[in-house]
Amino acid sequence: MQLRRALLALNLGTGTGIHVRAMSMSTSNTPMNTSTTTQHQQAQAFVDNFNESYAAKHEAFENQFWGTKMALKGTNESPYSTDLLSQTKKEMEDFLSDADVLVKAKNFRDEIQKQDTDSDTVTDTTVTDTDLWKVLNVIIRTCQCNEFPTPEAKSIREQTNAFEGKLEKDRNEMKLGYTNSKGEFITASSVGLRTTMRTSLEESERQSAYDGLRSIGDFVCDHPQGFLEVVKLRNALAKKLGFGDYYDYTVQNAEGFSKAQLFEILDGLEEGTRPLMVKARQELQERHGPSVLQPWNTGYMMAGSVVKKMDPYFPFSKAVENYMRSYAAMKISYAGATMTLDLLDRQNKYSNGFCHWPKPAWTKPDGTWVPSITNFTSLADPSAVGSGLTALNTLMHEAGHAAHFANIRQPSPLFSQERAPTSVAYAENQSMFLDSLVGDAAWRAKYARDVVNDQPIPFDIIEEEIRSTHPFKVFQLRAMLAVSYFEKALYELPDEKVTPDNVKALADEIELKIQGGLSGRPLLSVPHLVSDEASCYYQGYTLAEMSVHQTREYFMETDGYIVDNPNVGPTLAKSYWNCGNSRPFLEIVKELTGKELAGKAWIDALEEDLEEHIGKEKKEYDDMIEKCRAAAAGDGDGAKEEEDDLDLQMTVKFVDGDEIISDSSKLGLLGACREFEKFVADRVSVAAAN
Ligand SMILES: [Zn+2]
Repeated sequence: MQLRRALLALNLGTGTGIHVRAMSMSTSNTPMNTSTTTQHQQAQAFVDNFNESYAAKHEAFENQFWGTKMALKGTNESPYSTDLLSQTKKEMEDFLSDADVLVKAKNFRDEIQKQDTDSDTVTDTTVTDTDLWKVLNVIIRTCQCNEFPTPEAKSIREQTNAFEGKLEKDRNEMKLGYTNSKGEFITASSVGLRTTMRTSLEESERQSAYDGLRSIGDFVCDHPQGFLEVVKLRNALAKKLGFGDYYDYTVQNAEGFSKAQLFEILDGLEEGTRPLMVKARQELQERHGPSVLQPWNTGYMMAGSVVKKMDPYFPFSKAVENYMRSYAAMKISYAGATMTLDLLDRQNKYSNGFCHWPKPAWTKPDGTWVPSITNFTSLADPSAVGSGLTALNTLMHEAGHAAHFANIRQPSPLFSQERAPTSVAYAENQSMFLDSLVGDAAWRAKYARDVVNDQPIPFDIIEEEIRSTHPFKVFQLRAMLAVSYFEKALYELPDEKVTPDNVKALADEIELKIQGGLSGRPLLSVPHLVSDEASCYYQGYTLAEMSVHQTREYFMETDGYIVDNPNVGPTLAKSYWNCGNSRPFLEIVKELTGKELAGKAWIDALEEDLEEHIGKEKKEYDDMIEKCRAAAAGDGDGAKEEEDDLDLQMTVKFVDGDEIISDSSKLGLLGACREFEKFVADRVSVAAAN
């Protein structure tokens, strides 16, 4: 700590990041000393310049990403278009793939290391402790992930980007929907189709919604310059770069280990949970009859009735406030971040929730803190049954990403940008840990309240949901695995076999093999497959879920509870968040939990006896109800909390496309939530009147 402060003081004085050893040498007057200082100054100037340029290019691209994904109108000063999206992406990629930058960074690093080793001045720190060293290394790692060593490789990449941009735009504008029981065609996004499939009483509607989801696969595969061309181009690029295929290339960049190693881990999970999957499918059939195994019936029959019963306790309008209250109770801070939230579904909007950062958080060399600027989106249709809970899950998830990246405290924006070399598993671990709370009876006892009577959700409903879902939780694991096994098989196909018929058949084959039958979420409807940022990415969710269970187990063993535990935010910030991508994911998980990352905690949770599980959840539910009662009856804390604003150290703006709904810098966080609630209520009453 002491040394860091010395460095910082030096930075302030000279604008360089000279480490302590160089500083001590600068008091003598040898030629070597001067050259060392100059070398460090040059390196620091290079690093400073790099950081500022990167931040600017990153921001330009991310603004286009948001504008085009949200289908914003734009203005003369800041227009949005897919052309500008490709252009700004190219500018950012050109910068990161500039061979000159990589060479310079390596030279500076080697020189500094050499001088450090040559120097005979002994201090208790070395160059490898300095920010300068750290940033040079992250520049090298990042540029290596973006390297296009030949013009040919680069041109393949550009062509891929152009195809992807067009395909995504066409996919967003694709006419989707289902035929209702009256024979009318109802327009619905993929999210709407999934909701219909989960909740509609009419089997024909559910089946039609499923067909609608399947049609996405036809659309992307049959598109003339579509997904299959993109797959071939991605593979061609990976091969030019010396990798077996694109999946291997992506895994190595993102996780730092090979596809073969990854599938050793995944094969273990796959084999370890296959008997659970077979058993769960049998159990499902015994409970509901064979038609439950039709992909459009499974989700509905498993949870259809309980979803409706739960719905009043998960009103979408309260989702944002509940997320903020529960994060605040865990003492999560956003470190001065500004967040723009576009939460409602609408036509032409990108069909998957996401969280991105036009401004990654970082600390400048003079110690100035740059707080993050975050955009995030979910796809709520507040009038649809079950959508409140879905949206809440997305919200807790994306807000978890936002909290994580807001708290990365490193000397370059490269540590807090979400692409390689940032591990997908590392990023998803944080968001999935936080969204897992919504499933806890303790969380529901406090936050799942009916807006009309202000009563907590009764445990009976929670128990019914547990009974209808716990034995089948393995399906989620298998669904995650299916995406990875599909992408593995897809990128291993030789080019001539990458045809629409083959690829569609392959998707069905993997669903049968991994999920035991056709899936309610057809593989080819998964948006991650198409999008560059998210393709060959799903294994990250699987590794993250392993860690989520392991991290939950850690908090349960250490503190006995997670929901509203004020230790959670500071612990996550210290152990998982502050370091950004400067440390390997597997290492930080091991350091916090004391164990190597493994599937055991997850498999244990899946195998937990149903009655035992219900018993535990009941106890946690009762404890929380009692805590809330005591708080309300005690010294009036409950009432006080209601009036005070929440301390999340962030500014939030709610938007709906181009429209600004509310802004916490004017109204406070709770004030902004109230405005948002009003907006949602108006939207619902308009929908009801139509
Ligand atoms: Zn995520």
